[in-house]
Amino acid sequence: LTPRHKKAPAMSAPILISACLLGAPVRYDGEHCRQGHPWLRALADAGRLLPICPEVAGGLPTPRPPAELCGGDGHALWAGAAQVRTASGDELSAAFCAGTRAACALAAQHGVRLAILKARSPSCGCRQVYSGQFDGQLRAGQGVAAAALATAGVTLFDEQQLTEAARWLAANEA
Ligand code: SF4
Repeated sequence: LTPRHKKAPAMSAPILISACLLGAPVRYDGEHCRQGHPWLRALADAGRLLPICPEVAGGLPTPRPPAELCGGDGHALWAGAAQVRTASGDELSAAFCAGTRAACALAAQHGVRLAILKARSPSCGCRQVYSGQFDGQLRAGQGVAAAALATAGVTLFDEQQLTEAARWLAANEA
């Protein structure tokens, strides 16, 4: 029996990660954005990373036309005020939402509290997304999956914030 005064061991829940950051060729252009950061490699070696590509999980093919959030960010989309569209105007919101539901279900099933997501993606971006005008301009906001994960209480960082993510993990598993 564990004495009552002893702190219970910290839970080591998996960390959700955008699959493209681990080298899966699932980006819209068929490429990946593998990160060679030693902290991420150590987490991968320890079996801590749970990869998902919300767009592929939502049934979209690879490669696929690039898409942007039009009318607002992912939070606006969930509120019915924005859509995901390609440059030619095709709406992909339903697939983005389906993939997000799969990502959220995976996160809930595994007790995920931390996610590392690809910056600026219309699905995974957790700080900025493109303007919706296909003009290369960024605006503050979150992608469709990032918005839903944040609403579900998952702490989000992107691949440009790995130092902050490592600090968060150390503090929350201590
Ligand atoms: Fe990567 Fe997310 Fe885009 Fe999939 S949806 S390619 S995981 S950024």
